[in-house]
Amino acid sequence: MKIGIDIGGSHIGVGLIEKQKILASKERNFTREDRKNFETTILRFISEMVDELLKENQLQIEAIELIGIAAPGTSSEGKIVKAGNLNLQNFEIISHLKKEFHNPIQIRNDGKCAALAEKAYGAMKDFDDCIFINIGTGIGGAAFLGGKLLEPKRYSGFEFGHMVVNQGGRLCSCGKQGCFEAYSSIKALKNKITQTLDMDSDISGQYLREELLKEDDLRIQEDVEVFLEYLKTGIGNLITIFEPEVVCFGGSFAYYEKNWIFEKLIEKLKQPNATFNNGELPSIVTAKFKNDAGIIGAVIA
Ligand SMILES: [Zn+2]
Repeated sequence: MKIGIDIGGSHIGVGLIEKQKILASKERNFTREDRKNFETTILRFISEMVDELLKENQLQIEAIELIGIAAPGTSSEGKIVKAGNLNLQNFEIISHLKKEFHNPIQIRNDGKCAALAEKAYGAMKDFDDCIFINIGTGIGGAAFLGGKLLEPKRYSGFEFGHMVVNQGGRLCSCGKQGCFEAYSSIKALKNKITQTLDMDSDISGQYLREELLKEDDLRIQEDVEVFLEYLKTGIGNLITIFEPEVVCFGGSFAYYEKNWIFEKLIEKLKQPNATFNNGELPSIVTAKFKNDAGIIGAVIA
């Protein structure tokens, strides 16, 4: 039995995992208040949620062979070095958790965790050359060539969300301007749409997808068009660089599979010059495990 923990931009998910199955899980959203003292909040949430999960399933912590953490941004040597979305820097998360849990604990970038789960058991399992793009609060990802996860020695790498797609453009949480995720993350789309509709931006991803993103609502068309144009640019770049056999979308964008926006994206990617090898697209799929991919992948050794 293992415990997977996914620290996202808007919530923490904790799951009890046996083989690749989540037997039970918990999720808790961050409030504005929680964000004021983020490190303490994260540690408290993990401690309380693991405790509840063990109690509800009549388990002792000794039964857990591994605790895996999927963390945003760059992690190295047991700490979250930098996560712009959560405004965390050099957060020694493992040494803090070790005070409470004596189990082995590992940490890895969340996009890579989700990608590993999809590669091992999910939507990318039958392919060797894969690009995984996690689109949610930010944009992360991973690449596999010849079935092997590419892992640089320096930092995490594959920060797809922070490649510049518009020089001098929108300010990104990382401090640079014109980053991919400043235009094409679900958060960026949500901010624009709620602004256009003059609403509070504090709405759920489901409400955005099911209630606000109506195909016949003319007020939002321009915002969606900007989001999709940059998405086409970013993904077109990745296809041109890696020539993957498959591109797999994870994060909250995985839930857009049957949405009109997803179809529009495919149309755009097929346009002349969207990719170097004009219109010859790889397979485009969505994550089998949807938002659970991070939790499942967090415990892959
Ligand atoms: Zn950035």
